[in-house]
Amino acid sequence: MLPTLLPADLLAACFSEDYVTARDRFRQHVCDRQEDSRYKEFVYREKGPSDEKLLTAIAWQGKADASKVLVIQSGTHGVEGFAGAAIQIDNLNYWQNRLLPDDMAILYIHAINPYGFAWLRRVNEAGIDLNRNFIDFSQTLPDNPGYRELATALLPEIETQWSTANEVMDTYRQQHGQLKFEEAVSGGQYEFANGLFYGGQSASQSRLYMEAIFDELELASRQQLAVIDVHTGLGPFAYGEIICDHPPGSKAVAWAKKVYGESVTEPALGTSSSVPKLGLIDYFWQQRLQDRVCFITLEFGTYDVAQMFEVLRQDHLLHRQPIDWNNSHTRQVKQAMRRQFYPATPDWQEMVILRGRQLIQQAIYGMSEN
Ligand SMILES: [Zn+2]
Repeated sequence: MLPTLLPADLLAACFSEDYVTARDRFRQHVCDRQEDSRYKEFVYREKGPSDEKLLTAIAWQGKADASKVLVIQSGTHGVEGFAGAAIQIDNLNYWQNRLLPDDMAILYIHAINPYGFAWLRRVNEAGIDLNRNFIDFSQTLPDNPGYRELATALLPEIETQWSTANEVMDTYRQQHGQLKFEEAVSGGQYEFANGLFYGGQSASQSRLYMEAIFDELELASRQQLAVIDVHTGLGPFAYGEIICDHPPGSKAVAWAKKVYGESVTEPALGTSSSVPKLGLIDYFWQQRLQDRVCFITLEFGTYDVAQMFEVLRQDHLLHRQPIDWNNSHTRQVKQAMRRQFYPATPDWQEMVILRGRQLIQQAIYGMSEN
């Protein structure tokens, strides 16, 4: 076992083995607290693989009418929820005996895509990538001709198409470059419901809940918000990249760099491990609050992107039919998904917790300054 700076029991208490453990831990941590914390559950119709109840839970720490709010969100991409949920638990403990600055509150949004978390998928119950779902569905849907060109090669319908699949993708890469290839595959598409990075045809249940949370807590009336949405899967192993998708040169980018420091990256400028994307949750917050919000994606690296695409392809092929959770092939695909987005080694876990603490401290300090 690798030695760690943080005690092993702290890591074990933060990181859950599965969605159900994370869900129950979060509720217990919030409800056991002495001080007043508003806890609420948003339940989904679907169930988990062992028939468990799926829900998004929220908790509020601090004064109800605080004018400054830090939002910490986990599980936007389901299976990526292990890291975000751990940061939430750690933070609930960490701030327990410390007073938040006056006039500031923390909102925790736990497992905004509980289906994906429970079923070890990136997408939700409708095959939708929640982080491509925040577009205006009253307008013509965005077109992604690159994905259309690659759709069959990415997820072959029949066995014989596999032989040419890699060839098709290699040719596309040679013609357009790695960046354009990644944009075509992962930038978002609204055409293939069984496909990768599918944004949907309407607002998902998670998006509707997100909007309800926003309205119920009257976030539009607050003076300032900072949002940290925790993800995993892109970038160097265990490194927590701060990705900022606000327009280059905007007030929010300047605030992010002042508060979080020089490591902030911008997909629009090509400085991030993430490429520009359609329908991000960021755009919802930006549209509602304009320059009163700074939204960042905290992305923890795991393994390389080629391997990630491969694991995702296998998961999407698996879910073309109803699945048997205990079948050996299902177990194999799901173990690969879990490992790809949650390596679970002590060094990885520790870097997640420490980077999480660092950012939260920076956000709280930054908001108390202005
Ligand atoms: Zn993600």
